[in-house]
Amino acid sequence: MAYDVIVAGASFAGLTLASRIKGKTLLIDRKSVGSLPTSACATFYDVLEKMGCESSLYKVFHKVNWQTGYSSYAFDAVEPFCTFDYKEFCHSLLKKFAGEFLKANIEGYRDGSVITDKGTFSGRVVVDCTGWRATLGSSVKRDLVDEKNLFFGLEAVVPYEDDKLTFIMDSKIMEHGYAWIFPIDRGSRVGLGSYANSGLNFVEKLKNFVASFELEIQEMHGGFLPFRLRQAVLDKIFLVGDSGGQVFPLTAEGIRQGIYFAQACAEIIQKVVDGGISLEDGLNAYRKFVEKHRWVFARFLFTQNWILHAENRRLDFASKFACRRLPMNLVQKQYFNAMRIKPQWTKGGRD
Ligand SMILES: Cc1cc2nc3c(=O)[nH]c(=O)nc-3n(C[C@H](O)[C@H](O)[C@H](O)COP(=O)(O)OP(=O)(O)OC[C@H]3O[C@@H](n4cnc5c(N)ncnc54)[C@H](O)[C@@H]3O)c2cc1C
Repeated sequence: MAYDVIVAGASFAGLTLASRIKGKTLLIDRKSVGSLPTSACATFYDVLEKMGCESSLYKVFHKVNWQTGYSSYAFDAVEPFCTFDYKEFCHSLLKKFAGEFLKANIEGYRDGSVITDKGTFSGRVVVDCTGWRATLGSSVKRDLVDEKNLFFGLEAVVPYEDDKLTFIMDSKIMEHGYAWIFPIDRGSRVGLGSYANSGLNFVEKLKNFVASFELEIQEMHGGFLPFRLRQAVLDKIFLVGDSGGQVFPLTAEGIRQGIYFAQACAEIIQKVVDGGISLEDGLNAYRKFVEKHRWVFARFLFTQNWILHAENRRLDFASKFACRRLPMNLVQKQYFNAMRIKPQWTKGGRD
């Protein structure tokens, strides 16, 4: 059966995109929607509001704690941050999705068709939202996923209560990366992530880090994310979210970015579905839209490279300056405005 649109992957990018499309849409994921979190789920509260996913909220944060190997700096958040429940977030979006959902393992792409373990499906438009592995894109371009450009993160939920988001950049805790403490409804998500994802014993390091709070880990989960922008289009496939490498280097923030590009991509795809533009023009328009943002990603990559090579002492010196109220407010405003998402819904229903 031919579909107008096939969306591979039902997480942040896939659900945002699929729930905005008016047309015969097939959404495929190997898991039940929301069943396996792919993230530590911290973002700006603005994201929850714009997406109409406030019901998933755990906690709002007006303060951020930044620690180096030498000092601790607290600053006010210009835009409040929050943590949220992945399952509830995904389900809020799924409720607005009017197409078909198929639970199947996607194996690849050939000539406009998506191959799964439940059959082969063809669509006029095919979108890859399968995360860092980019299952469809990779079946067209075998070397799309470059291991050197992957960040790895490992985290655990522990009974630690706090009212701030904490980031710790200290090479004694995590080399070439950072530690985080994100309080949720009960306890906190505590994790370690690094841009040098090989040769580091993450499990041991996370256990030691948690032990420094006199706590123990019950279970851990982790994953990769790409920190270099990839091609936005491959063959006739739109790549959105992590599959397109749309994660900010340095901060490893990818939820808002995946949503931002999914909203833009959905607008373009809708024009293709409605017959306003050809598929070729749609692919070109999306490619150009993503390329317009390449400099933003490049700027973050530049800063990331500097920080990764900075010693603890230099980092602390820079933090002392950056965490003062004026520069910090400026940095935060620029960071927030670098990628602002739109309201997902108009009042009273689908856009
Ligand atoms: C440890 C860690 C913590 C993070 N914390 C944060 C954070 O706090 N805030 C933030 O903004 N970003 C965070 N990120 C980044 C963020 O999670 C990702 O950028 C975001 O999840 C990308 O969304 P996505 O929809 O593109 O892909 P994903 O969320 O990875 O979703 C991909 C979907 O595709 C499905 N899929 C994949 N392969 C197949 C297949 N072969 N067949 C069928 N289905 C398939 C998966 O099941 C999944 O549902 C974190 C990343 C990691 C690794």
